[in-house]
Amino acid sequence: MQGFETLKHKRSGYCGSFRKNDAGRKITVYGWVQRRRALGGLIFVDIRDRTGILQITFDETLNKEIFDRAYTLRAEDVIGVTGTVRERGDANTKIATGDIELLAEDLQIFSKSETPPFEIVESSNVNEELRLKYRYLDLRRPDVQKPIIFRSALAALAREYFIRNDFIEIETPYLIKSTPEGARDYLVPSRVHPGSFYALPQSPQLYKQLLMVSGFDRYIQIARCFRDEDLRAERQPEFTQIDMEMSFVDVDDVIEMNEGFVKRAFNDFLGIELSLPLPRMTYREAMERFGSDKPDTRFGLELVNISETVKDFGFKVFADTVAAGGSVRAVVAENSADRLSRREIDSLTEFVKTYRAKGLAWIKYGEQISSSFMKFLSENEQQRLIEKLDMKPGDTAFIIADRDQVVFAALGALRLEIAKRFSLIPENRYDVLWVTEFPLFEYSEEEKRFVAEHHPFTSPMQEDLHYMDSDPVRVRSKTYDLVINGMEAGGGSIRIYNPQLQQKMFEVLGFTQEDAQARFGFLINAFKYGVPPHGGMAYGLDRLVMIFTGCDSIKDVIAFPKVQNASELMSGCPSCVDCKQLEELHIKLTEE
Ligand code: ASP
Repeated sequence: MQGFETLKHKRSGYCGSFRKNDAGRKITVYGWVQRRRALGGLIFVDIRDRTGILQITFDETLNKEIFDRAYTLRAEDVIGVTGTVRERGDANTKIATGDIELLAEDLQIFSKSETPPFEIVESSNVNEELRLKYRYLDLRRPDVQKPIIFRSALAALAREYFIRNDFIEIETPYLIKSTPEGARDYLVPSRVHPGSFYALPQSPQLYKQLLMVSGFDRYIQIARCFRDEDLRAERQPEFTQIDMEMSFVDVDDVIEMNEGFVKRAFNDFLGIELSLPLPRMTYREAMERFGSDKPDTRFGLELVNISETVKDFGFKVFADTVAAGGSVRAVVAENSADRLSRREIDSLTEFVKTYRAKGLAWIKYGEQISSSFMKFLSENEQQRLIEKLDMKPGDTAFIIADRDQVVFAALGALRLEIAKRFSLIPENRYDVLWVTEFPLFEYSEEEKRFVAEHHPFTSPMQEDLHYMDSDPVRVRSKTYDLVINGMEAGGGSIRIYNPQLQQKMFEVLGFTQEDAQARFGFLINAFKYGVPPHGGMAYGLDRLVMIFTGCDSIKDVIAFPKVQNASELMSGCPSCVDCKQLEELHIKLTEE
C-alpha cells in the first residue's frame, strides 16, 4: 500500500493573498488544482484555496523530476508547492494575484481527484439536485463559499456586540419537552423511557425566560431551531436564530439595544450608516398603508381605503361589502396605463385570486377612461371615485372589495407584484424599520379558538388589558418585528411576568388549568418565585445573511441545506434504520 505524504513545509499564506510586493519571497502554498496547461517546456498550474487562485509555473529546465510530476496533475488534485514568487510579464487582471506567479521548486501531491461531476467554477448553472448531492464539491466554488463565510462574520459580530453589552452566552438544551404551539415539533424517542419522547426546540423561548428568572439578566445564544412544517421556499426544517433576552426592560429598551446591533451590522458589512432611532410603524398602520405586517416601504403604491366613498354607490359589490363589515381598498399605479395591456390586467386578476380575492376591479385612466365597472356608476359617483383615488391621466387603479383580511393580503401582494413587474424597487436601498403593537390574538377558523399571534408568553399592552375578556382580538401586544426591505428579519416581545396574567392568557387561548400545567407547568411554577420584567427578540440568522449577501434562496446561506421534501440529498437522510435500533427505542412500524 502506498503511504501518504507528510507536509514538508509550513504554509506561508493563502493562495489568494500574495501580491507584487511578495516578488522574490520563497513561499509554500497548499490547495486544489484549478487547471493545468502545458506549453512546451513550461507547465502552468492554477492552484486554488478559499481565498483565490495563484498561478504556478513549472520549468522543465529547472527541475525535470518535478516538471514530470506536475505533468500528471489534474483538476481537483490536492497539492503543496514551494517556490519563489516572481512578477509576471503578462499580468492577468481577472485575478487578484494576477501580477505574480510562483516558480515551483518543490511539489507535493497529497491526493488525486477523480473527474468531478461538475467543474468547480463560479456561477455555473449546474442543476440544484446535483449540486446538493455533491455539496462538498459545490462548496468549493468561491461564490458558493461567500455567504457561508459571511455568515460566520455576522455571527461573530452578534456575539461580540451583545457580550460587550453584558450579555452572557448560554446554551439551552436541544432535547426538550414537547410543548407544541405554532408549528409541529420534531420528536425524538427515548430509549430509557419507553413510549416517551423529547422534542427538538422550535426556539429556546421558555428556557431563555427561565434564565431571566434565574437572574442571568442578559442572555444571548446563536441557537438552532427545529420546526416540522411543510417547507415553503424560504423555510428549512432547521434554521438558526440570534436569540436574546434581557431583564428589567420595556419595549423601548429592547429596541434600543437591538438597534445598536443592527447599526453595527449595516456599518461593518455594507458601509451604510443607519440613523437611529429607526422608524417605527404600528401593525395597524402597516396593514392600512401597505397591506402587510412586513411592509416594503422602498416604493409607493400605498393602499387607499375608499370604503366611505363607495359605501352608498349604486354598485352593489362595493356597497354590500362595506355593509357586511368588509372594506373596499385600492392601489394606484402611476403612469402605467399605456404599459398595462388587457392581458397584463387579466394576469394580475389571476394573481390576486391566489390570495383568495374574488376579483380585481380596475380603472385605466388613459386617453379615455376604461374600467371593469365604471359603467355601473353614475357620472357623479365616477367623479367622486377618481377624486378620492387622486388619479391623474396615465394612472391605473386596482380595487378589491372583501373582508379586510383578504383585501390586505391581496392588495399587499399586488403592490409588490406591480413594483416587480414595473421595476419600481430601487436597488441598493435598505429600508429598515420596526413594526410594533401586533394583535395579541388571532382567531383561528380552523381550530375555532383564539391563538397567540406571537406566542403565549407575550405581554398585552397595559391600555388594552380590559379587552382580554370582552374582545380579545382588540388587544394589542408589546411586540416588535424588525423589517428590512419588506422582509421580517427578526421579532420579539416583552413577556408576561405576572402569574395571574399568564393564567388569563392561557384561559383565552382555551387551555384548561390542567392543560396549561401539563404543558408549561415548569414555567408556571418558576413564575411563583420572583420574576423580573423581561423581554427579548430573535433574528433569523439565515434571513439576515440572505439580506446582507443578496442571496435569494435560503439554501445558499446554509452549508448543508435540506430540500423541499425535508431530505438532505448528500447523506440521504431521513433514512430507514435497523430493526435493532427501533427495538431499543420500543418502536414498531405499522404495515404501511
Ligand atoms: N422565540 C421567539 C421566536 O422564535 C422570538 C422571541 O420572542 O424572542 O419567534
